[in-house]
Amino acid sequence: MDYFVDVALPIPLEKLFTYKVSPEQAELIQPGMRISVPFGKRKVYTSIAIAVHDNPPTVYEAKDIDQILDENPLITSFQLKHWDWIANYYMCTLGEVIRAALPKPFLLESETVVTSNADQKVEDSLLSDDEFLILEALSNQSSLSINDIIEITEKKNVLPILNGLLDKHAIEVKETIYEQYKPKLVRYVHFSEQFTNDEALSQLLEVLSKAPKQRQVVLQLFQLQAQQGGRVKVSDLISASGSSSSIIKSLLNKGVLQELLIREDRILIDQEAEQKQFELSNHQTQALKTIQNAFDANKPALLFGVTSSGKTEVYLKLIEDKLNQGEQVLYLLPEIALTTQLISRLQGYLGNKVAVYHSKYSANERVEVWNNVQNQSENAQVVIGARSSLFLPFSKLGLVIIDEEHEASFKQFDPAPRYHARDSALVLAKLHGAQAVLGSATPSLESFKNAKEGKFGLAELTVRFGEAMMPDVQLIDIKEATRKKKMKGHFSKTLFESIEESLLAGEQIIFFQNRRGFAPVIECTTCGHVEQCPNCDVSLTFHQNKNQLRCHYCGYYESVSPSCKACGNNTLDSIGFGTEQIQQELQKLFPKAHVARMDLDTTRGKYAYQKLIAAFEKKEIDILVGTQMVTKGLDFRNVGLVGILNADTLLNFPDYRAHERTFQLLTQVAGRAGRTAKRGKVLIQSYNPYHKVLQQVTTNSYREMFEEQLYEREQFKYPPSLKIIKLTLKAKDFNRLNEASSWLAQSLRNVFGNLVLGPESPVISRIRREYLKNILLKIPHEQSVSKTKKGIKRIQKSFDAIPMFKSVRLVYDVDHI
Ligand code: ADP
Ligand code: ZN
Repeated sequence: MDYFVDVALPIPLEKLFTYKVSPEQAELIQPGMRISVPFGKRKVYTSIAIAVHDNPPTVYEAKDIDQILDENPLITSFQLKHWDWIANYYMCTLGEVIRAALPKPFLLESETVVTSNADQKVEDSLLSDDEFLILEALSNQSSLSINDIIEITEKKNVLPILNGLLDKHAIEVKETIYEQYKPKLVRYVHFSEQFTNDEALSQLLEVLSKAPKQRQVVLQLFQLQAQQGGRVKVSDLISASGSSSSIIKSLLNKGVLQELLIREDRILIDQEAEQKQFELSNHQTQALKTIQNAFDANKPALLFGVTSSGKTEVYLKLIEDKLNQGEQVLYLLPEIALTTQLISRLQGYLGNKVAVYHSKYSANERVEVWNNVQNQSENAQVVIGARSSLFLPFSKLGLVIIDEEHEASFKQFDPAPRYHARDSALVLAKLHGAQAVLGSATPSLESFKNAKEGKFGLAELTVRFGEAMMPDVQLIDIKEATRKKKMKGHFSKTLFESIEESLLAGEQIIFFQNRRGFAPVIECTTCGHVEQCPNCDVSLTFHQNKNQLRCHYCGYYESVSPSCKACGNNTLDSIGFGTEQIQQELQKLFPKAHVARMDLDTTRGKYAYQKLIAAFEKKEIDILVGTQMVTKGLDFRNVGLVGILNADTLLNFPDYRAHERTFQLLTQVAGRAGRTAKRGKVLIQSYNPYHKVLQQVTTNSYREMFEEQLYEREQFKYPPSLKIIKLTLKAKDFNRLNEASSWLAQSLRNVFGNLVLGPESPVISRIRREYLKNILLKIPHEQSVSKTKKGIKRIQKSFDAIPMFKSVRLVYDVDHI
């Protein structure tokens, strides 16, 4: 009987691929093992075994596999099930999920090796000297590496020569694969056997009196050994003795010292951190009980707690519970780079059981966390991570925490899989029979709706921990102030005076300016009016090249009028001033204050963010101006004032979520103020202070915002009242793209009717030389999502069959946000 294995390749292929295996291999292979396989003419890939069977493929001849790479499955059956769900739900391939999920070193790389092509003899007269040399060498040995060829030809750049030979079909490129991951080895030294007694050692010191530097190293090693025992790290010895590695080398050569290489995990955690203790407040205890009741009823729980209410402490109790039962915990955060403070806090309570996993870590570091999770090591019982940590090989997962669950950055935007980490984590928890808790001071409409409908348990913390009061939020009418000429630059008199007061009182100040403020919107600087789409309840976007205002949901457009349609003044201006300008303005107005800025530009380096936070904590900074980054996770004791220069840029952002986002961002940034006994102050400037969302922020009326926004989403048919799938078409040829997107939209309309919007050009309509067009498909709740996706795929099949559209790429974004 012939045996076959179905494998998933880490490339966008719709289907699994089938290869031939021997009966012995069939016996060995288990799903989740890695297998290297040939693919196409000359590629070798690392694939993942899915199933062994005896059905030969019907449309192609199965090739043999190259090699089985694992003795045990690298990927658990939990992972395979979960990844399959992600691929299906988010309409991508399993291969794309695998590529996103596995640290790079697990997906082996090819190293190019060439062989001669036995089927093809090329006339010597047609070969250049170099080509001749290479072929001659290949007649003596079966294969040559790139390095061999460099030696033979005595040339550095041999690829053109190889290309020439390939063109003549004289050689073939073979790819072999190798493991890239090498654990980090640390060099240690100790005294050789014969110098371990005092007498020998003092003799040695005498002999070395003519080599004072070496003598110094020996003395230092002696001392360090007394402190640390046994062996000593070479790097420690060098720095302690002020010597160099060449001096250590000469001692090694003399046989005085011996060297030792020891494997060390890279992710070291301060083992000394003392374990702190705390008691929950009555409110927290109550919330904990509600969460546990939800768990008992097999439901996830939403912890809706105002800023600084102590949600983290509630999570900690849940975590401790699971750790006592020997289970694993996944703690998801939207942006790990922004959470230095939280990590050290958790380590303070849980010590070395906490591992961290995110994309700023090197591939090798990620492999180590992966292995630790797989081996159920104690030092990775709790994993704090960004969205990709939900791909780790958990086997005893007991709890998933999704902190700041409302954050949009939980959704992967590009490339596929375009998954939402919150939703995927809920599915992950379900697969493991684990519990899940979502936390936020400003829950997403989706999650709060789920809680209201009883799908989630709802635990609330309505007061801040300890004596801290909720901040005092005030709105400042800058329309009025502008009219009365009471503005200093972008600062109203009230705001200016409050800054002065705070600085005098020695308090710190945070300024928030949205990066999204740069969105191309046209605003009247007299009345603050921004044109809205008549169909979509979003602001119209300014397209400079056509001098048009456009809705990028439905395609509505109008030309820009010379004067404001509301007040008639010709004071229209495209809005958006950045953090940098605000920083400069503040510096001019308050020359003595130390003003710093926290945005993408100032936090590029690996530690730049930590440094800024540390400086702010140490009060080296008086005023911190920042983007969204300053709204998240920061727990500063001394912030007395939070300022927002123009809330309208948030409200007018052309997105149906703009109002929800504005409420969330403003509430979150306001939450940075007054975390101690003294009540913090928040000042929000706006042309439109009577806007209901701004009013809801000042009165902390989440529920009111929720009801109103939900109503509007129902009226205008947007999530969460229905589901959306965004289809993006990309092509270099604009006309081709137009034809293709019209064709696709029409075909979708034939099936789904007026639930199809577009095609429409996005705000940024050309990226990396490709033009983009979006089509939005709405799926009402009563319509089957899986059937709809099947319908789309059927249309895609016809689309793919049209030769003209070959150069157009189609991308799905399910639950686009
Ligand atoms: P949130 O995450 O809800 O914004 P935090 O968890 O940051 O709130 O808590 C706010 C502050 O109150 C933190 O400094 C935290 O250490 C403190 N805190 C919260 N609960 C307790 C507790 N039970 N015992 C001691 N300190 C607490
Ligand atoms: Zn519209």
